[in-house]
Amino acid sequence: MSRVYNFSAGPAVLPEEVLITARDELLEYGTSGMSVMEMSHRSKDFENILDEAERNLRVLMNIPDNYKVLFLQGGGCTQFAMIPMNLMRNKVADYIVTGQWSKKAAQEAKIYGEVHTVATSADKNFSYIPDLSDLNISENADYVYICQNETVHGTTIRTLPNTKGKVLVADISSMFLSEPVDVSKYGIIWGGVQKNVGPAGVTIVIIRDDLIYDEVLPFTPTMLKYKTHADNKSLYNTPPCYNIYICGLVFKWLLKLGGTEAMHKINQAKAKVLYDYLDGSKIFHGTVEKKDRSLMNVPFVTGSKELDAEFVAGAEKAGLRNIKGHRSVGGMRASLYNAMPIEGVNALVNFMADFEKEHVK
Ligand SMILES: *Cc1c(COP(=O)(O)O)cnc(C)c1O
Repeated sequence: MSRVYNFSAGPAVLPEEVLITARDELLEYGTSGMSVMEMSHRSKDFENILDEAERNLRVLMNIPDNYKVLFLQGGGCTQFAMIPMNLMRNKVADYIVTGQWSKKAAQEAKIYGEVHTVATSADKNFSYIPDLSDLNISENADYVYICQNETVHGTTIRTLPNTKGKVLVADISSMFLSEPVDVSKYGIIWGGVQKNVGPAGVTIVIIRDDLIYDEVLPFTPTMLKYKTHADNKSLYNTPPCYNIYICGLVFKWLLKLGGTEAMHKINQAKAKVLYDYLDGSKIFHGTVEKKDRSLMNVPFVTGSKELDAEFVAGAEKAGLRNIKGHRSVGGMRASLYNAMPIEGVNALVNFMADFEKEHVK
């Protein structure tokens, strides 16, 4: 076996301990006589897996009792539609557009109502977070939307916007469980799990009870109503059972590690290794304003397409995989999710330093 350091932005690296447990339990889960993949979603065994996953997530995120936890399908992009379909009762919403993912969300919402972009960093290719303390919030906005960590552009919103009393909806896909959050500040906080929590196929939506409406936009399919899933504890239809089981293993791994506070410290230490190197480098440069840098996704460039390509090719050979940047930013991107060990970051920085020595005389 030879596992590489996988810097993919998603689907992404998972904790090795989790994969080993999954392997050990692949043919028979507990004394059930079967794999989790083969179980009825109505069986006692799976019910316990689902209940335990929710319980542990509630502990990890300190989720208040007046919030529901929904395990859904359809990925992040389905939420871009589901949110307006369920919440746009005045048919008005305010979007803060700080990168590719909030831009896509805003575009999708336009199908359902009036969308106001109340702040954006498009003027500088989304390389910073604008001041969000005093925005022109629409009087009848049903919600204010953010993508708190922009996976492609590598920014994080550190100070939540002043929504002037409006409901805050946040996509935290690429920072899910990477640090503590105060769930009570959000109406909906949600993420696709394939970035930082588990295998692709599960989207976790944490929604305040009073936002689970009976009356939603007309023509909203039953499957796309939050109420359907809240009323049925995520078992209205067959959920992605195996993927939820893996998420549950990741939650247990995180709890054992000391929860999100301990994870945050580790993530800060990992990111510091790379950012400190970038700040001293003569050849590599970070693309994001320092105050807004993500701990999870770190884009960087050399300024030369040829050098970037040479670096990416060399890194691949050295077992540092999926380091090529997104086409809209170019260069490189290293995703340092929870399961990326510090050894991986050290190996990357050592490789960068060697590359720099070779190319800067
Ligand atoms: C990946 C990603 C999405 C889209 O998720 P899909 O499951 O591919 O639809 C949405 N938001 C953020 C922040 C992401 O990183």
